[in-house]
Order: sequence, then C-alpha cells, then structure tokens
Amino acid sequence: MKACVMTFGCQMNARDSEKIAGILESFGYEITEDENADFVVYNTCTVRENANTKLYGHLGFAGKYKETNKDMVIAICGCMMQEPDEVEKIKKSYPFVDLIFGTHNLYKFKDLVNELFEKREYNKAHPVKKNGKLKVKHALICDVWPEGKPIVEEEPITRIKEDKRKLPFMASVNIMYGCNNFCTYCIVPYVRGRERSRTPEAILAEIKALASDGVKEIMLLGQNVNSYGKTLADPVSFASLLNEVCKIDGIERVRFMTSHPKDLSDELIDVIAKNPKVCRHIHLPVQSGSTEVLRRMNRRYSREHYLELIKKIRAAIPEIAITTDIIVGFPGETEEDFIDTVNLVKESHYIGAYTFQYSKRSGTPAASMEDQVPEDVIQNRYERLMKVVNESTLSETAKLTGKEMTVLVEGVNEENKDLLTGRLSNNLLVHFKGDDSLIGKFVTVTLDECKGFYFMGSVTNSN
Ligand code: SF4
Repeated sequence: MKACVMTFGCQMNARDSEKIAGILESFGYEITEDENADFVVYNTCTVRENANTKLYGHLGFAGKYKETNKDMVIAICGCMMQEPDEVEKIKKSYPFVDLIFGTHNLYKFKDLVNELFEKREYNKAHPVKKNGKLKVKHALICDVWPEGKPIVEEEPITRIKEDKRKLPFMASVNIMYGCNNFCTYCIVPYVRGRERSRTPEAILAEIKALASDGVKEIMLLGQNVNSYGKTLADPVSFASLLNEVCKIDGIERVRFMTSHPKDLSDELIDVIAKNPKVCRHIHLPVQSGSTEVLRRMNRRYSREHYLELIKKIRAAIPEIAITTDIIVGFPGETEEDFIDTVNLVKESHYIGAYTFQYSKRSGTPAASMEDQVPEDVIQNRYERLMKVVNESTLSETAKLTGKEMTVLVEGVNEENKDLLTGRLSNNLLVHFKGDDSLIGKFVTVTLDECKGFYFMGSVTNSN
C-alpha cells in the first residue's frame, strides 16, 4: 500500500506534510511521490488564486486513478480548506474526495483516518437502496474548524516517532501559528487564524529530542517569527528563544523564517551577531520600495525604516546574506513607486529575491482597491525588476568565489549523481565531488566557481 503527500505552498505546509507522511507510515503505507497511490493527500495553499486552480487539476487526475482503484483514499487539507466556498465546491464537483480537514485540526489526522475507515466499513456493511438497487454510500469525513483552538502540545518523543523528515539531520520546528498583521494582499490571517505562540519550554523540549535523534540543523518557523512570544502569558522575545535554542548540545545550525521588518529588534541582531550557530542568512520581505505602496499594503514600516534596518544588520553581521520578497504591480503602484523599488533593490545588495506579479486574491482588501495596475504594465515592470534582482544576486554571490566555507552535506546531487550538494550557512548551495559517507556531515569546501545562484566547489577538509 502506497501513500503520496503532495505539498503546495510554504515551509509551514512542508512541515505539516512531514507529520501527515509519518502518520500514514504508521498506518503501514509506504511513502511515494506517485499520485497514483492508495492514499493521496493534497496539502493545499491558497495564497494565490492560481494555487486553487492547481489543486483542481490534480483532483481531475486523482478521480481517474480512483476509477481503477476503488479503495483509494483522496484527502485534502491545508489553507484552502479554511475557505468554506472551496470546500462546498469540492463536495459538489469532486464527490470522490474522502477526507477534508483544515489547518487547525491537523493534529487530529490519525483520528480522522480511523474515522474514515470505520465509516467505510459501516457503509459497506449497510448498503442503501437507490433506484431499486443496493448501493454502498460514499464515506466522506469533512472536519474543518473555523478558528484555532489553544495549541495542543504533544510529547516530543511522538514527534520523533511519528514525523517523516526528509533528511534525518535537519528539522523544521513551528514556534508559532497564525498571523496578526493583515497585510492587505494576504489571505493568511483569515485561513491560519490569529497569532498563537508555543511556549519556549515546549519548543526547547522538542529541539532537544530532535538533537538526541541526530538533528544538527533546525529551522524555526512562523509567519512572523519576530513577534514570537508577545501573546504568551509570560511574554518572551524571539531573540531570547533563539539564544536558548543555540545552547542545545548537538544543534550546530539554526535558521528562522519569516521575519517581518517592523518587528526585527536590535536584541535579535545582537543575538545573531554573537552566536555563530545562527545561520548567516536573513529573509526580510520588503514587498515594495515605496513608502506609499507599503502604507496601502499595511506593512507598517517605511522605505527609510527598512533601509536603516538593513544598514544596522550589515554593520553588526558583515557576512550576512539577505534575501527578500517583492510584489510588482500592487494596486495604485505608479512608475515612480516602481523605480523606488528598483533603487531599493540596488541599495540592499540582496543575494536573492522572490519576485511576484501582483494578482488579485479574493477575500483580501487589496482585491477591491481602485487603480488596479494593467497586466501588461505589471509584466513590463516585473521583467525590469528581474533584471536588477539577477544582477544583484550574481554580484553578491560572485564576491564569495575562492573562499573556504563550511557546508552541511545534504545529499547526492539530483542532476549529477557524481556530485554531492551541501548548503552554506548563508543558504547558498555548493556542488562538489565527494563520498556518500559525507552526507549529514559538516565539510569545508573551497568555492571554486560561481554559477550564479550556486557554486561548484572542492572539499578541503572533511574531518
Ligand atoms: S505578515 Fe503579512 S504577508 Fe506575512 S502572513 Fe502575515 S499578513 Fe500575510
């Protein structure tokens, strides 16, 4: 029996999928990437409208597979299931779907699967009469909670036993759920709920358990990690949590994602600067270089604040690599606003940027704003911006050529099996010749050749 978990969207979803895959393994399924399996889970994203369209494409295929494998289970979860209209559409147009649940009751997945199997057995044993013929009713479990309840903590050992991590030496840990920021283009606060932080005790216990299971690198996850702990009964700052995580024996590297520029504190910069275990990479989404556009996005910082922040970070941590997210063509964006963004990119020396063309996301305030920018203008600005972003990436990356740096070896290169791939502290990848026994180890490599977004290197020390 095989199971496939298809993840759409962000790292939070990827983390949730580890849990889902692990639980499916405990039911005896072998995890595969082939959607033509006995149990398929679509872990959906709804940040962009076309993410929804993508799911419907996959469901079309899944329905076909189910025609030849009647016992197949098709499950859908994730952010898109928090939208009642989408759930209704699925129930009506894709009646072969068996299980629907949302972001707030993921921890109930095992119970929901058991409930589904029991319902199937019951329906098989109790066929109903339709048009004079006995028919087995389709078993559907649909359980979506509109809001998050207080966080349910599990024993750290459950995490170790149940989750299926992609790499045994790297793990992601949720430190908080939801978001309070309500950026006007974003649906996340509506589908993931308000901000809720886990206690530092629960997070540290989980990371200690992961360290004793061989994990060396931790990624701390939250929609806005910089506001971690503010809503706890005993408020704690993200900086102090990060400091404590670094003290755990066995954990050699700590990353975090995502940072909101309005909440990134001096205390955090100080903790990163003083602690070599914290990776030299900050993802700091700017979204726009125009203060007026930022105001309409409800980002609650100005262009000047952002640039000042970058300056402060670079002064304290000169080796830091900074990446960002940018939206082009937000409603009301003028050519002047766009040029502000281009100039901000030039000033910020990003090592990488995710650039997006603004597209209406229904259910968000921005979708009904006046002055929507025409598509051809967005496309033109996007292409111009990409050029500047690529130039920045190339020049920042090339500066590292010839240096000796440490990578954590993640595995065999997918495209060239003769090579290994490792990740630098600043998040860039390096490909180099080496023995499989190096996988999971820290290795010093020389960055021989810059290939734009990655390096070809050679091992100088593997002890
Ligand atoms: S900070 Fe803004 S963009 Fe990020 S999840 Fe929250 S509302 Fe969405």
